[in-house]
Amino acid sequence: MHLQLDQARNDPLRWRDAVSVAAPDLRREEALVLGSVDCEGSLTFTGPDFLLQARLRYRHRLCCDRCLTPYEEDVDLPLAFVVTAGGADGPAAAPGVGDAHGARELEQEDLSTLVAVDGAVDLFRLVCEQVELNVPMKPTCDAACRGLCPQCGVDRNRQACTCVAESVDPRWAALEAVRERLAGNLT
Ligand SMILES: [Zn+2]
Ligand SMILES: [Zn+2]
Repeated sequence: MHLQLDQARNDPLRWRDAVSVAAPDLRREEALVLGSVDCEGSLTFTGPDFLLQARLRYRHRLCCDRCLTPYEEDVDLPLAFVVTAGGADGPAAAPGVGDAHGARELEQEDLSTLVAVDGAVDLFRLVCEQVELNVPMKPTCDAACRGLCPQCGVDRNRQACTCVAESVDPRWAALEAVRERLAGNLT
């Protein structure tokens, strides 16, 4: 689906769509969208730009960085962008010229800017980018996830292990045995 800027010039354009995002569409291959991305929003002409407001709702499956277990999570993502028509749409307004108040609203200065291509916003591309951005650097199934034991590999969320108590002594004991052997070879 493409949102045509011209359709919003007189009245805000309200839109709604379900976008299917398959794994090859995403650059973050660890993310998997289950079902489609339900998105809705509005496109409003603010002059000279447009305001795009959107809400994306979907469910994704990620793999926990600590315990390596896949988990699913519902996402509800409100978004807002300033959309510029791009260079090909009429004379470009010089900054600082014209109506100082009307040209850019203060609240829009904090928003990310999207440049429309051929007078339209590619909703599919936008959704893919947002799904990618919404994958955490280190996904965790739960803030309290205890992860895998670095020694025996058990999932410490499901099973207790005794590695912590034993970890120090056996290693030192092994080193000690090596040292004794070396000392024995030298004499
Ligand atoms: Zn986990
Ligand atoms: Zn262990």
